[in-house]
Amino acid sequence: MSLLEELYRETILSHYKSPKNFGPLADASVSIKGDNPSCGDQLELLLKLNGGRITEVRFQGHGCAISIASASMMTELVKNKTLDQALELTRQFKAMVVDGAEPAPELGDLKALAGVSKLHARTKCATLAWNTLEEAAKEAGTS
Ligand code: ZN
Repeated sequence: MSLLEELYRETILSHYKSPKNFGPLADASVSIKGDNPSCGDQLELLLKLNGGRITEVRFQGHGCAISIASASMMTELVKNKTLDQALELTRQFKAMVVDGAEPAPELGDLKALAGVSKLHARTKCATLAWNTLEEAAKEAGTS
């Protein structure tokens, strides 16, 4: 394993062991559940919105290291962003893990998950939180 791969692995494991923004959120504006039956990952995403901006975001549930690490890093990245900005980051993240595109600089530590694009079975683990975020944005847009 290269030094870089080891660093990425440590980033993923540290988010898995101590996920950021994990737990319930009182007075959430939107809460959406997502699951990935092929692996058994289940999570619920909770957002507090103010004028189209994500002022608070938390998640809860259980899943494999990739799904939890992806959700943890996602919540750190999209907090205080507008829904439009969050959806643009979703597009960039999916380009990286689904299409194998070079990680956009905006994705920060999430580039640790770039290798998932070569592990097709795990793509759904990495995108679960982001698909749930897209659902939440849709829900928020119609309410
Ligand atoms: Zn998984």
